[in-house]
Amino acid sequence: MKGSIKQELIKIVGEQNFTENLIDLVSCSYDASEHKHRPTCVVWPETVEQISKILKLANQELISIVPRGAGTGLSGMAVPIRGGIVLDMNRMNKILKISIEDRSVVVQPGVVYEDLQRALAPDGFFFPPDPASGKVSTLGGNVCTNAGGLKGAKYGTTRDYVMGLQLALPDGSIMRTGSKTMKSVSGYDLTRLFIGSEGTLGIVTEITLKISPQPTATSTALATFRDLEDAGMALSQTMHSGIIPSALEILGRHTIQAINQNTDLNLPEVDAMILVETDGYTQEETDYQMRKVIEVFKKNNAEEIKQAKTKEEAEELWTARKTAYAVLARIETHFVLEDVTVPMTKIADLLKGVEAIAEKHNLQIATYGHAGDGNLHPQILYDGYDPDQVRRMEEAAANLFQLAIDLGGTLTGEHGIGLSKAPFMTLEHDPVAMGVMRSIKKLFDPNNILNPGKMALEV
Ligand SMILES: Cc1cc2nc3c(=O)[nH]c(=O)nc-3n(C[C@H](O)[C@H](O)[C@H](O)COP(=O)(O)OP(=O)(O)OC[C@H]3O[C@@H](n4cnc5c(N)ncnc54)[C@H](O)[C@@H]3O)c2cc1C
Repeated sequence: MKGSIKQELIKIVGEQNFTENLIDLVSCSYDASEHKHRPTCVVWPETVEQISKILKLANQELISIVPRGAGTGLSGMAVPIRGGIVLDMNRMNKILKISIEDRSVVVQPGVVYEDLQRALAPDGFFFPPDPASGKVSTLGGNVCTNAGGLKGAKYGTTRDYVMGLQLALPDGSIMRTGSKTMKSVSGYDLTRLFIGSEGTLGIVTEITLKISPQPTATSTALATFRDLEDAGMALSQTMHSGIIPSALEILGRHTIQAINQNTDLNLPEVDAMILVETDGYTQEETDYQMRKVIEVFKKNNAEEIKQAKTKEEAEELWTARKTAYAVLARIETHFVLEDVTVPMTKIADLLKGVEAIAEKHNLQIATYGHAGDGNLHPQILYDGYDPDQVRRMEEAAANLFQLAIDLGGTLTGEHGIGLSKAPFMTLEHDPVAMGVMRSIKKLFDPNNILNPGKMALEV
């Protein structure tokens, strides 16, 4: 980077918010995916005006800018693959306003998900998307990846809660989208355009979110199924039983086996286990919902059903699901965690298809995930130092994406496209849709300075 550009950046953000130290460059060179590339420098902006000036400078000098939250993304979205400036948003981490009466909050993008939950708890409110990375991931990152989580079936994803944004665009202009009201049909929905845009169109500098009253009662149960078809039927019938569980999670046979091999949980080694939680404002209400779900499970040959009687028992039932990622991550030197999503009625087909792919490529693929919204996490385990296994992993991932599309699903329900799934975008989107996406990118960012190389936006 030219010395004059470096001096200009320091003038904008101050010495304390600029770094070229190797340790900082390495820290910002990766996320939670397998991708890596070092930036030229890292800056920590503190105001929207600073961001606007940085963008103007980068646009003039044709330098790449990659916004970064906590770097927990699983698809290489925040990896500066073309070098340039990483814009680390962590120093813009203030909750600017909590308005319980208006059911909304205004936050800076670097606020950590769980810090917002903690701030809302005393008023009995919460921000529902609940990504498993919520202890560290930022709300800016959550918005730009449309993060979801365990409560997706009932409460939806981040998209359902964003009322408005403030953004800095690549030419340095500052724009507001949306409104502070619960409803608005005023003009094109620019807010939604930026949700899940992976930092390719603009920098999110302020977020207005809708919040919800936190349910005060829950019921939890775990059911085992010998047969995948029965588990699949139980899931889809639950979703048209009139009850929408607050969580409906599934663990497949290979995940259960891996948990048993690495913990002393001694789970029954069945084809599938379903964990279900209902919530509400009285225990009677949630227990009633749970009874209805259990009726559906029984009708579909659930083998064993355990319903928690206490909070401690509920936590025990959750243990298997919550340990899955960590247990599987320890088995091989490397893994990729996918997040294909299919219509509810196709979950059993997806699980069976994943088993066939694992067999075809002679790899261990363990599946678990948010069955309540059709979003499963096949975790492909492989030895990353063995070129043959790397090749088989890549082929298995490609087969998995094709399977999801063939079942009427999508490449990604929550982890985004980034670098990992960019080569597969055309499987899901027709040439006209790809053309429209590329035109939108060109409209906002004609010089392609914002997070280049992501989402297959370059022709
Ligand atoms: C253990 C683990 C569990 C996870 N569980 C879930 C889960 O349950 N649900 C889920 O959805 N995801 C999950 N993820 C993935 C990841 O946590 C989410 O994608 C999260 O939203 C990323 O937030 P982040 O702050 O880390 O963003 P980063 O990874 O830093 O960035 C993500 C993308 O957003 C862009 N970006 C960040 N901030 C801004 C900004 N202010 N303006 C413009 N662009 C910006 C970046 O350029 C990048 O493209 C998990 C990851 C891990 C490692």
